[in-house]
Amino acid sequence: MLRPTVAFALATLLVTAGCGKSGGADTSPGAEVNSVDPGSTPADNSPTRLIPVAASVTAREVSPADPSLLELYRKLHSAPELSFKEAETSHILAQELQALGFEVTTGLGQQWVTDKAIRDVGEVKPGVGGYGVVGVLRNGNGPTVLIRTDMDALPVPEQTGLPFASTVLSQTWTGVDSPVMHACGHDVHMTAWLGTARALVAQKSKWKGTLVMIAQPAEEIGLGAEAMLADGLFERFPKPDYNIALHVAADLPSGSVSYASGWAMANVDSVDITIHGKGGHGAYPHTTVDPILVGAHVVTALQSLVSRNVNPTDSAVVTVGSFKAGAKHNIISDEARLLITVRSYDDKTRDMLLDGIRRIAKGQAEAFGAPEPDVVVESDYTPATYNDPAMTAKVMKAMRKTLGDAYVEERKPVMGGEDFANYSRTEDKIPSLLFWVGGVAPERVAEARASGETLPSLHSSTFAPDYERAIPTGTEAMTAAALELFKD
Ligand SMILES: [Zn+2]
Ligand SMILES: [Zn+2]
Repeated sequence: MLRPTVAFALATLLVTAGCGKSGGADTSPGAEVNSVDPGSTPADNSPTRLIPVAASVTAREVSPADPSLLELYRKLHSAPELSFKEAETSHILAQELQALGFEVTTGLGQQWVTDKAIRDVGEVKPGVGGYGVVGVLRNGNGPTVLIRTDMDALPVPEQTGLPFASTVLSQTWTGVDSPVMHACGHDVHMTAWLGTARALVAQKSKWKGTLVMIAQPAEEIGLGAEAMLADGLFERFPKPDYNIALHVAADLPSGSVSYASGWAMANVDSVDITIHGKGGHGAYPHTTVDPILVGAHVVTALQSLVSRNVNPTDSAVVTVGSFKAGAKHNIISDEARLLITVRSYDDKTRDMLLDGIRRIAKGQAEAFGAPEPDVVVESDYTPATYNDPAMTAKVMKAMRKTLGDAYVEERKPVMGGEDFANYSRTEDKIPSLLFWVGGVAPERVAEARASGETLPSLHSSTFAPDYERAIPTGTEAMTAAALELFKD
């Protein structure tokens, strides 16, 4: 059903379809907003249009969601919990699985999270724990399929104006006071995940195998998957033949899904560089070693990594997000600090970038007669998400059949990260897939594209997904995917 405004916007859009403008990169997946081609950069003149414009803004007839799921969505949305603090959320989901007849285990990752908090924060702040949930449903001989949802919200003050908007104030696991909001759509994920569990239980006669439903904490800090795996997710419970997850997309019309085959999301590394100088009076620079000057050269030289060292057909990012030094006009400081985010897909490129950062920092310091800088690559990194091509092709065929060809589209990978990748990084490399579910009303997407307006991205305080269509679509798509994978 196409509303008149959509039809009008569509016509405009078709005329201007060639000038798809790309949104800025963000740390979150799917952050490129109002972008006809979500993977493109301003320099990318590739003629490939991965998402047919007309199709993607047409409103698909979505069968109405189960009212109890919508109610649960609003409940979860108004009571968001931060990473490692998902006590109530995990409790709700565990109860729901239990009612459906799953064998349910809660508190996965407790020891790992406690140890981590003591190591990184010095103490376990109130409410911090490992809240992983695993539900197992055995239904005869067949493959084991793991379906994952994440549960955590973000330290963002909600400004959607929704009647069920969050007014929650809390504290992060490291002790920072903050308002809390489900600004990344994990509430959509949880609801569609539960809808899928219900659908698969209702259709038990149509599949054979073992269904493992997991609710993962702390995706936003990239540690929840690690915590669950460390607590024996693949040893204490049936080991999956397939892992699958979905993420809501802030630029894709609700009713549709999209996916990348192969690399889908990036390796995300954080690097801290401390440049040591020799402080002194700004008027007597010859008696000092100026760490700001060294740092400026490091920042400049780092630009060569992507432009001169990465194969032009690969993708990578080195962004210096913070450069801090000094306090006053006339004092040369003792040190300067750089905080850098590093993105890549394959591990070879990742190693090259990290080695290059170390080499450049060291080399520039030496060139200016400064002591050797400290370069710390954070050990908690988010590995790149690789969507197994064979699994992706199989699942997407089933989704096309269920949702209709026009509503399942391939898109380019993004440079955001997702810790879902950890589940596939086992010795036997379990085939995995993470796909996108449209989160914006089609008419909103059409209007925004026609006017050039930028829609709120994931992590925005005004991100309000079209949940009434995204939840049933996510449920339908995920159920179709699971039924297909159980056929093996
Ligand atoms: Zn996020
Ligand atoms: Zn997210």
